[in-house]
Amino acid sequence: MRDNLSASSRVDAGEAPNELECLPYSVQHHDEGLCLLVRMGPHRILLDCGIGDSSLLLNTLTMAASIGNSPLPADLVLISHAHPDHARGLLTLHQAFPQLPIYASEVTSKLLPLNWREEDAKEIPQFCHALPLRSPVELQAGLVVELFPAGHLPGAVAFLLTYTNEQRSYKLLFTGDFFLSNSRLVEGLRLEELRGLDLNVLIIEGTYGTSRHPHRRNQENQLAERINRAIADHCSVLLPTPALGLGQELLMLLRSHHHFTGRDLDIWVDGAVATGCDAYLELLPHLPPSVQNFARHQPLFWDERVRPRVRRLHSEHRATVGKSPCIVLTDSTSDLKQYCQPDTGPWLILLPEKIDIKVNKKYFTPTTIESYLLAQHSDGPGTTQLIHNLRPQHVVFVHGSPAYLADLTSLEELQNRYHVHSPAAGTLVELPIGDTFLQPAAPETNYEGELTELGTVITITLPDAITADSRWRQFADTGLLEARWQGEELVLRGLSQRELLNQNGDRYILSDVDCCGNCRHQRGQRCWNPASPLYNFKVTLEGYCPVFERSLNNE
Ligand SMILES: [Zn+2]
Ligand SMILES: [Zn+2]
Repeated sequence: MRDNLSASSRVDAGEAPNELECLPYSVQHHDEGLCLLVRMGPHRILLDCGIGDSSLLLNTLTMAASIGNSPLPADLVLISHAHPDHARGLLTLHQAFPQLPIYASEVTSKLLPLNWREEDAKEIPQFCHALPLRSPVELQAGLVVELFPAGHLPGAVAFLLTYTNEQRSYKLLFTGDFFLSNSRLVEGLRLEELRGLDLNVLIIEGTYGTSRHPHRRNQENQLAERINRAIADHCSVLLPTPALGLGQELLMLLRSHHHFTGRDLDIWVDGAVATGCDAYLELLPHLPPSVQNFARHQPLFWDERVRPRVRRLHSEHRATVGKSPCIVLTDSTSDLKQYCQPDTGPWLILLPEKIDIKVNKKYFTPTTIESYLLAQHSDGPGTTQLIHNLRPQHVVFVHGSPAYLADLTSLEELQNRYHVHSPAAGTLVELPIGDTFLQPAAPETNYEGELTELGTVITITLPDAITADSRWRQFADTGLLEARWQGEELVLRGLSQRELLNQNGDRYILSDVDCCGNCRHQRGQRCWNPASPLYNFKVTLEGYCPVFERSLNNE
């Protein structure tokens, strides 16, 4: 695993003792969960507890306690949100170390018990303390935490930790899982709340690596389109999803998309997804105003009256489900064969991208398996946007496949500005903070334009912000551009005079020889000097005429 710490040159670690470090116990490279120990001065903070293997978790934490010469493996625990990859180890943790304080947002504290559905709900102790949003709380002397909603899932937060000693303060932000866009049931992370923090360390998730997603509306439309087509083909649609988050988003989408509103169609909800819906209903006052407004007019989920009907799947329905086209939402862990029975019609199984769901390949009835994108995390541009808004000294990437995280850490726009880390589990990351560190400048913004395709002509319309730039003059000077693919991205680049000359480099063109290639009246290999006999003609770059004038910007 790459770790660029050794390449650091801008921080003089000698100026101050090393007050910050991060020891990742588990980094969610696949589905092993996320669990990080952060040290800020004397404070040891456990960020998330998603390790699924409880004996591994206990060994790790018992060892941590003995190394720290303390009865506890940390001083406190912060849980970013209620998803299993961040929280499923908590009950084991609490049982092993009941004195260890655990904190989360109020909504997360209410959703956490869904992680232990096999336990008797009454047996699960209330071990999680709720912290307020957007209001600093001093958890220990010199250690302050503040919670900022992070999008992604109701209750999900980013934690800002500030540690102050006699000399100065240190700030660390842990994003948990985050999403900049609004989704239907949760508002996105607000960048403006986090600007100007003077951050030292950012621990950030990189689920989608550098990939770029279409606009959320497009993702929704594509999915709705596909489901609509399946049902028109007399196919039922099966959507396995995690208990919280995606399933409820899918229900809201299906209920409000024009393909489905008013349609005589059953949407069945099974297992943990149904329990997740009940949990959301309890949280209604915490959901966005638009959702509360919707819920004033009709039930948010369970609705037998308004079409399409959203119904809880009880055992008495099982025999009939799928006989005529319907939609089923069920647990990502359930055996899908129970729905795709020989006496039902054909099925389309739709799997969400980047969520690990194992499915059988063989069914008793014609079954098609496809995937779709309805993102719950920010894409690559969203991730770098957040980083450039925060401008920390250190960026630590976790939570994503090693290949995707490596794509992010190798981005030049990050490497040039920050110390970038992507540690493997068990690798200590030291985070030296210099006293005289200058915040790196944020990069220039990318501007978006419009594209029109008409037959063989493609017109690209760019905003004034680009064409008003002095560099545009050089770009427009030759009138030629180069387009080439770079992975999934099409890069447009203006060709300079010099490059045009070099392209003809197999012929001799020296910049000190007077020729059309160096003449200021030649643009786009055409002569624009009315005084020249070549005026308006295509010229060869090594040509010459008596009214030659040397180009000014040709060194
Ligand atoms: Zn999550
Ligand atoms: Zn996660």
